[in-house]
Amino acid sequence: MSTEMLQIPVAKPLLDEQEVEAVRRVILSGWVTQGPEVSAFEREFAAFVGADHACAVSNCTTALHLALKAVGIGAGDEVITVSHSFIATANAIRYCGAVPVFIDIEAGGFNMNPDLILSAVTPRTKAILCVHQLGMPCDLSAIVAIAQDLGIPVIEDAACATGSEILWDDEWQMIGKPHGDIACFSFHPRKVMTTGDGGMLTTANSEYDRKFRLWRQHGMDVTDAVRHGANRVIFEGYPEIGFNYRMTDLQAAVGRVQLSRMPSMIAERRTLASQYSELLCDMGWLETPREPVFARSNWQSYCVKLGGGIDQMHTMQELLDKGISTRRGIMNIHLEPCYSDPTIRRVSGSLTLSEAAQTRSIILPLFAQMQAGHVDFIAKSLGYLKEEVNRLQEMAI
Ligand SMILES: *Cc1c(COP(=O)(O)O)cnc(C)c1O
Repeated sequence: MSTEMLQIPVAKPLLDEQEVEAVRRVILSGWVTQGPEVSAFEREFAAFVGADHACAVSNCTTALHLALKAVGIGAGDEVITVSHSFIATANAIRYCGAVPVFIDIEAGGFNMNPDLILSAVTPRTKAILCVHQLGMPCDLSAIVAIAQDLGIPVIEDAACATGSEILWDDEWQMIGKPHGDIACFSFHPRKVMTTGDGGMLTTANSEYDRKFRLWRQHGMDVTDAVRHGANRVIFEGYPEIGFNYRMTDLQAAVGRVQLSRMPSMIAERRTLASQYSELLCDMGWLETPREPVFARSNWQSYCVKLGGGIDQMHTMQELLDKGISTRRGIMNIHLEPCYSDPTIRRVSGSLTLSEAAQTRSIILPLFAQMQAGHVDFIAKSLGYLKEEVNRLQEMAI
């Protein structure tokens, strides 16, 4: 009998010789930072999501910073968002000197509740930053309608949502077309496709796109590609203070391969997610994630909510003892020490559902190379855990 225990990670990027070959090609070309591979990746990504413009940057946090800056967010402004997100969502608002205003999530999921937006509005409200949490599209049509009434822009934190779809004008469209004013994506290894680190901004607004390109490269008004290809001497200028938020050509080459894998990777994730939902739906003590009628998730994460009386830490430890890695649900930014100062953020209403989601949910393993047998084993392990809990409860009576 094998003594080696099955080890199932919570996530795992799908990378192989194709990505190695792509990086090799770039290294041997002699052009390694932002150049022809970045341009090609941008064209291919724009085509994939159906956007007019796509601009690659170093990660999604810098993408969010540039997006907020492009719509004019500055010191003292307020941006309505959720606390129930990765900390970068709020940090990008702080980089602009603005104040994140946190509203609660919806009862049935992990996304912003649009009904709470109006009560959070003040004369200082300048934008809405919504999140497609865990790859599940939020209720964008409701959010965009409210923003249009208010006359403020919508920025989508689509860090997890590459390849997710939304029902828009009666047809399924990719997140990032975009449906708000700007959408921001992440290519961190924990997301569905990866470039090591990396980010992308998509927009239909050519002026925003021009600003992204200026600011990501130190505010320099001539790109390296233009200077390199010119047959006359060109001196660059710096009309504005910018940043170094460039993506490298090494990363972009990996991104192009990853993008070509997206249709099959997403199909596999959808199969695994529906297998989970089938096996777990009868366990009354556990709530499985559901797609609203307007949403098709890329299943960046499969996050279940535990019923009352089921301890999160205990469940995670029991699964880990069986070789199954899990993560607790998404964090809440307002509970972190760096956001304890009430002058740098505002909480609008109660965040009860956000707080419950953090302590009551766990993320189960899901990655493209995972097998049906793994899902089966995890579901059985969860079933066995519940039997144990029942037994303990009966003994206590
Ligand atoms: C991962 C993530 C980010 C940050 O992305 P990076 O590419 O790591 O900067 C921002 N927002 C959300 C919701 C995320 O999940």
